[in-house]
Amino acid sequence: MTQDTHTPPYPPDILGMEAEEMRRLGYRMVDLVVENALNRHASPAIQANTPEALAQALGGPLPEAPGDADAALDTLARVALANMQHGDHPRYFARVPGPASFAAILGEWLGTGFNTIATSWGGGSGPSTVELVAVRWLAEMLGLPEATEGVLLSGGSLASLTAFATARAEMGPGTAYFTDQTHSSLPRDLRLLGWAADELHMLPVDAGYRMDPARLAAAIQADRARGRTPRMVIATAGTTNTGAIDPLDEIAEICAAHDLWLHVDGAYGAPAAITAQGRALMPGLARADSLVIDPHKWLFQPYDVGACFVTRPGALERTFAMNPEYLRDVKTAPGTVNFGDRSPELSRRSRALKLWMSLTTYGAGRFRAAVARGIANAEFAENYLRQNPARWQVVTPAQIGVVTFALVGADAAEHARRAKVVSDTGYAAVTSTLLNGVSVLRLCTINPLTTEDDIRQTIDRLGAA
Ligand code: PLP
Repeated sequence: MTQDTHTPPYPPDILGMEAEEMRRLGYRMVDLVVENALNRHASPAIQANTPEALAQALGGPLPEAPGDADAALDTLARVALANMQHGDHPRYFARVPGPASFAAILGEWLGTGFNTIATSWGGGSGPSTVELVAVRWLAEMLGLPEATEGVLLSGGSLASLTAFATARAEMGPGTAYFTDQTHSSLPRDLRLLGWAADELHMLPVDAGYRMDPARLAAAIQADRARGRTPRMVIATAGTTNTGAIDPLDEIAEICAAHDLWLHVDGAYGAPAAITAQGRALMPGLARADSLVIDPHKWLFQPYDVGACFVTRPGALERTFAMNPEYLRDVKTAPGTVNFGDRSPELSRRSRALKLWMSLTTYGAGRFRAAVARGIANAEFAENYLRQNPARWQVVTPAQIGVVTFALVGADAAEHARRAKVVSDTGYAAVTSTLLNGVSVLRLCTINPLTTEDDIRQTIDRLGAA
């Protein structure tokens, strides 16, 4: 059917703009983003402001009449987006950095510009195929079994929630085992899904902050003897605190022997497995029933994207598929995938476009090199700290991009003070954490743009603060 009247795509009087204005503002936005990237190393790694100052700049009465889009863009860039952690800054070492790559940002922008939806095959066969391909490429890079299926979510929290719901649907209710180093979002996921308090079995870790397989096996046996039903073990490939990797192969043996679901939280660390060095540290990764990674951490994607992989074909759909009458006409032939049937999200944007775009642009080889660089950076930091034993004690060695250390004689308050002084200057963002109740400073070095000088100077400033 042809249209005999032409309606401008975005009429200015109906929430739109003239074509020239769309282009001009769009290019300005691109300029703001590129300028930010070019000047990033010279601007603060983290910046915060008071609620009053921010509310004054960004708040005010509801704007009833049209305003100035240029000024609005400036205010967002200068105020809102300046006052945050810049996880892509080369000296952002706090928590987990987010060193997004530019090709990935392009994929994200394009998807938003086209108002992409990746819910059903009928309503989005193109974006759905991109997601199938991206999930397959990631699974291949990680060395997961051929039959692995997956879905992209907002991050590790929702990806693990999706995996746990699947585990419960496949296996039935029962006790879940994890450690005191498991990321706190995972027990929260379990509680949200209805796991009772006495079905959450937290185990103490070994001296290297890893799950102890002997303790796990003993706990399973003791729980069975008490009439409990062990169901799932949650292992971590790269803890947030120290980068420690649980002994996945031994844990997988125990899971196989007791018919338990093995979930591996690799939100932080599993991307290390795309390198030969990292893969060697994670034997057994491919034996997971479910695995979560966060490409917005160590796979160079802008927020947000987490991936949930399940190695049992059909398990995601068996858990999440719906068939309401208002969606029947978008169901199509066998072999197609409706991603709305693979997680609790129905309407969902395509988080795969940025993965596809960046993998296509840079190639897997450059991703591997960038991850290897993050691993090497932490090793450099460890070596540098060890050169000054009168001042620094390495508490946990460099493990896939994380090193923890203590200033000789300092307590928790002193560590926190020094981390704050350095972070307040904007030079670098550093945080402290607790290991067995003892305070340590911590660097997470996964940004491939970080230089040895960045690391040296950050450590020196922590020493001098
Ligand atoms: N698991 C680990 C090991 C993490 O480090 C994090 C976040 O830092 C999460 C899970 C939660 O991921 P997200 O913040 O993407 O929900």
